[in-house]
Amino acid sequence: MFDYLIVGAGFAGSVLAERLARGSDKKVLICDRRPHVGGNAYDHYNEAGILVHKYGPHIFHTNSREVFEYLSRFTEWRSYQHRVMAHVDGQLVPIPINLDTINKLYGLSLTSFQLEEFFRSVAEPVEQVRTSEDVVVSRVGRELYEKFFRNYTRKQWGLDPSELDASVTSRVPTRTNRDARYFTDTYQAMPLNGFTRMFENMLDHPNIKVLLNCDYQEIERDVPFREMIYTGPVDSFFDYRYGKLPYRSLEFKHETHDREQFQSAPVVNYPNEHLYTRVTEFKYLTGQEHSKTSIVYEFPRDEGDPYYPVPRKENGELYAKYKALADSTPEVHFVGRLATYRYYNMDQIVAQALTTYAKIRGERRALAVVAQTQYRSNGHGHGNSNGTGRLAPSSGLAVTNP
Ligand SMILES: Cc1cc2nc3c(=O)[nH]c(=O)nc-3n(C[C@H](O)[C@H](O)[C@H](O)COP(=O)(O)OP(=O)(O)OC[C@H]3O[C@@H](n4cnc5c(N)ncnc54)[C@H](O)[C@@H]3O)c2cc1C
Repeated sequence: MFDYLIVGAGFAGSVLAERLARGSDKKVLICDRRPHVGGNAYDHYNEAGILVHKYGPHIFHTNSREVFEYLSRFTEWRSYQHRVMAHVDGQLVPIPINLDTINKLYGLSLTSFQLEEFFRSVAEPVEQVRTSEDVVVSRVGRELYEKFFRNYTRKQWGLDPSELDASVTSRVPTRTNRDARYFTDTYQAMPLNGFTRMFENMLDHPNIKVLLNCDYQEIERDVPFREMIYTGPVDSFFDYRYGKLPYRSLEFKHETHDREQFQSAPVVNYPNEHLYTRVTEFKYLTGQEHSKTSIVYEFPRDEGDPYYPVPRKENGELYAKYKALADSTPEVHFVGRLATYRYYNMDQIVAQALTTYAKIRGERRALAVVAQTQYRSNGHGHGNSNGTGRLAPSSGLAVTNP
């Protein structure tokens, strides 16, 4: 008899398995239909011996000391500050837009003070900010909107920014200084030996049994358990009773090149050309030295694995119906990005799982993930946290990606 059947061995499921086993001496069976642990954060050594992230680049960053210290029990870290360039008008310029971006793009030598003036001079007055387009245009004007934001968003979501609600993006990420870091969180680091090793350490406990290549539906009737923790898609749990929750998917094209370096930045975004949104070169992220290099292209798709909840009002309303069902199913805890239909960063999922654990123990404690001052990299997610452990929705405007 297991105390818990945990569905999904990503961050949500693995943190809860670890806490219940190690913290509360519970017997846990954790299953995943994929052939590996780690969920979307899974990394592995490819055929060339290079550490790559199978489901796109994952960069750890948080302002929560508690989350960082918790994960530090299972890994050492490599300090890493992420940087992204955008390919615009034939040049590579830093993103988020900063002083160097504008000076390079227009051949200017503005100061920070003058850049603020510049933004004011190009901003278009918008009487009522209704759409994501309005948000951007009213901050940086139409030209920068078209160079950096419009096409990227269309690629990423298959929707024009004018079709995405203004609430999707609350502010436009621009900096008037030369800070080219992608995130500004207090803790920015990569697990020294990779994410998968960290997950393996987390799940390495005699009370935890891991079952891979296994959909929970294949075993739920045969394996006795007391409670379930479900981190899969909430609509699928309820047999799509109200219809399918819309997701945007991605196709990843991995390549290895017979040279040491492929591009001049960890990630290069392509807002305007190609069908892919960005190219990531993994060795920048992992610090690995190798005579070859591995990269991944990301092609947004309508069909495929669920990655990004599509941030539209009607989808929120549909989710609310599933949430009501979930709330009336007390023997199942719904945790994680798929079960709560919201884009969350890894640190937010860890916070959510630790908060759920506290709740299971009867503690009334919400783990604070301190509000971030980071650049809200939209499109590929990185929602911001609201400081309560109840997590704020991510911005959905694809100005660029993490
Ligand atoms: C392209 C991309 C890039 C990202 N980059 C970053 C980043 O740089 N930094 C960051 O902080 N976050 C990033 N994220 C977000 C990060 O991936 C998530 O925060 C995290 O993976 C969520 O963990 P989870 O456990 O909720 O979900 P998942 O990791 O998706 O785990 C859920 C697991 O449940 C399993 N499952 C589902 N249904 C079933 C079933 N019926 N039976 C058995 N198993 C099932 C799935 O196979 C999956 O492994 C990125 C996300 C994407 C898509």
